This record gives sequence, C-alpha cells and structure tokens, in this order.
Amino acid sequence: MALAKQSGPLRIRWSRPLPAGVRPVKLTVTRDRAGRFFLSVLVEERIEPLPPVFLRDGGAPKAVGLDLGLAALVALDDGEKVDHPRLLKKYGAKLADLQRSLHRKKRGSRNREKARQEIARLYALIGDVRRDALDQLTTRLVRENQVLVVEDLSIASLVRSPKGKGRRRKAGLNRAILDASWGELFRQLQYKCAWYGRTLVLVDRFFPSTRRCSACGVIGPKLDLAVRGWSCGGCGAEHDRDVNAARNLRDEGMRLYELVASALPPGRAMPSIIRASEMPDVVLTA
Ligand SMILES: [Zn+2]
Repeated sequence: MALAKQSGPLRIRWSRPLPAGVRPVKLTVTRDRAGRFFLSVLVEERIEPLPPVFLRDGGAPKAVGLDLGLAALVALDDGEKVDHPRLLKKYGAKLADLQRSLHRKKRGSRNREKARQEIARLYALIGDVRRDALDQLTTRLVRENQVLVVEDLSIASLVRSPKGKGRRRKAGLNRAILDASWGELFRQLQYKCAWYGRTLVLVDRFFPSTRRCSACGVIGPKLDLAVRGWSCGGCGAEHDRDVNAARNLRDEGMRLYELVASALPPGRAMPSIIRASEMPDVVLTA
C-alpha cells in the first residue's frame, strides 16, 4: 500500500488482516500523542449476527452475569473468575521510573519533551495490550451467551482510595489501570452485542447484587470490601462474594430482559442494550 506523494510502499504493522474480498472505502492517517502514525482503513463489511443461543430448543435465552471487581476483573455466575490483565505488574515500575525522570527534566527542554513522548508511547502500548487481552474474553462471552448482564458502571464506588501519603501515587496508577480495563471491557461488550445480535443488560447500580443471597433472595447486611465470602442468615448458603453478585446480576438482568421481551410488538428483535435506569417505571413494576 502506498500513499500520495510517497515514493515507495508503506511499512505497515497490521492490527488485523483486512477481511478477504472487501475494498477500502476510505483511508485516514492520524498521529497519536506518542508520535505513532495510524492508518485507518474503512471497509464495507457485512457483519452477520451469530445464531441465537438458547438453554434448550425453544427454552430461555442463555444468559451470563458478570461482576466486575478488584479481586478479579470479572467473576461469572458459573464460578469462573478472570484475572485483570497483568498490566500494572508488567509496566507499573517502568511507568513510575519514566514519570520520576520526567519531573527531573527542566521545563521546556528537549529532554523533557523526549521523556514525555516515551511515557505516551508506554501508555499507548499498555492500551494495546489491554485491548488484545480483553478482545478474546469478550468475543468468547458474546459467542456463548445470548444475554450478558453487568452492573451499570460506577467505578468510583468500586475503588476506595487507600490511606497514607506515600501510597497515593502508586494507588493512583493502579486505579487508572483498573478503571481503563473495566471501561474497555464494557465498550467491547457493547459493540459486540450490537454486531452479533446479543443483548447487554445494565442493571441499576443501586441493585443490592452483593448483599442479596442468590439462593433465597434474603438481603443481608452491608459487606466490608475485604469480606470475600459469607453465609446467608436466611438459608445458610455459602457464598463467594463475587460469584454470588454475578448470579444476582444474571437473575435481575433476565427479569428485565423478559419484561422488555413481553412488551415488544411481535416480530420485533430484542434491542442490543437494555438499561434499567432508562426503563419506564410502568414496565419495571408491571
Ligand atoms: Zn439465602
């Protein structure tokens, strides 16, 4: 591939191969803060929805509840837990180093500008690694399930800032990296559900997904963030904190999904996103 006013073809590192048999409609060249050039190729490609997944023939749509958290990036209602991409472990020290060195450089100097670019390049790399790691996960979740349920993101409530002055900087970095992972996971689920004919249900963040017993429905006392497991005072069930939350999310999400399905005119497809906070009260309480 070559661009106008260029003598030879470009050296390109493809993020993914161009789909076979498509013609580029538009090319855009951009440059990010790290000084990297990007060539975006817009192609016309028809994305076919995946066949729907039901529990059995004619049964309920297959659903998964996803609890996003700190201990695990995501816990599934079947007990599976997916780790955070090891970004902080891999790049945290390097990033802190670069930031320290940036602060030692004189304002307005060329060296400072160089250090700034190096940091921007590292951030860009972290973003790429994160995107790739989450891509596999979200593709699998969307393939295997018809309905995906998450809590409407309110990251601020998930992360408490640790006490102590010296830890603040590291905690800030830690937090930025976690926040970005949840945000990216959410973004990918949203567009993949739209592409492949799935439904993403966002449960209201005030729904007591952690305190509710997924076995009997009793709502227990507030749990400290450090408590990883508990047993229900109502039915005695033993719960893993995050898996229990994921089960509650799945059940609440399916309740909302069925409400929307029953209100839909016949023949209309289910929406790719259902947001509890945007549903009219009439439907919710019906
Ligand atoms: Zn119970």
